[in-house]
Amino acid sequence: ESLDKGLEKSKASFFDQLSKAVVGKSKVDEEVLDDLEGVLVHADVGIDTTVKVIKRIEERVARDKFVSTGELDRILREEIAELLAENNTGSAILDRPDTGAYAGPFVVMVVGVNGVGKTTTIGKLAHRFHAAGKKVVLGAADTFRAAAVDQLIVWGQRVGVPVISHGMNTDPASVAYDAVKKGLEMQADVVIIDTAGRLHNKINLMNELTKIKRVMQKVIPDAPHEVLLVLDGSTGQNAFLQAKEFTRATEVSALAITKLDGTAKGGVVIGISDQFNIPVRYIGVGEKMTDLQLFDRHTFVKSLFS
Ligand code: GDP
Repeated sequence: ESLDKGLEKSKASFFDQLSKAVVGKSKVDEEVLDDLEGVLVHADVGIDTTVKVIKRIEERVARDKFVSTGELDRILREEIAELLAENNTGSAILDRPDTGAYAGPFVVMVVGVNGVGKTTTIGKLAHRFHAAGKKVVLGAADTFRAAAVDQLIVWGQRVGVPVISHGMNTDPASVAYDAVKKGLEMQADVVIIDTAGRLHNKINLMNELTKIKRVMQKVIPDAPHEVLLVLDGSTGQNAFLQAKEFTRATEVSALAITKLDGTAKGGVVIGISDQFNIPVRYIGVGEKMTDLQLFDRHTFVKSLFS
């Protein structure tokens, strides 16, 4: 329900345009598909993924001979859900197999450019795990901005979880090290590490993230278990560019796409997941602690297209 509300704008825009594309037509023909292509591009699905979707529908039309325009939204939903399925099979953090013995914390390193909603997403995640009865530790390793450290501390207080911080301009790797160590000592379930997202120097970014990883591996050799890239869905094509930069700088294992509530560009979720072959794990649909949803492709396409 809150997903429907969160995706309201994308949905309304999509619905309007799709209706215009099929008005007065009973059959899905080349013209309808051309219009549909425009609709998908406008929703920021991205050219490559749009072409892929159109091709799949074309094949279906060729196979079934007659496809009515009334069926178009259902077919679109099916094709897109299938596209998302190809790379959205990973399990969420809370699905980690329970071996009975304490296996150490699940370490999540969160990356992304400033302003995309990184800190907010970490706060929401902390709330989510804490509410599920998990022990959570946060690490304020975005030491480049004073506001980032302060904000994370506020989130920690709000949710009721400890935040490891050494203040501004301290060594991020050392914060990450202490956070992971604290997590292990406390027998925490999840440790979430914030990092600085300065994109202006790719080599620096790469070196910094590599160093943070290397140092936390002194405590937990297979950490981080997840590198979560946070992208602002309302920036459309810019989110694609950021995904490109970050996947070059480090191995990204999952995506959180934020601010989908304020935008008609919800299609960006489909394109990014498809183009980068990275599962979308969470979507942000508001500023509140509870406005983070575990991504489910069926619920998502249903909210977007029906
Ligand atoms: P950071 O610089 O990446 O850490 O970004 P912040 O977490 O400080 O978020 C920047 C702004 O975006 C804040 O005003 C947040 O409240 C807002 N924000 C974050 N996620 C969402 C979301 O899913 N929806 C909306 N509407 N706002 C969001």
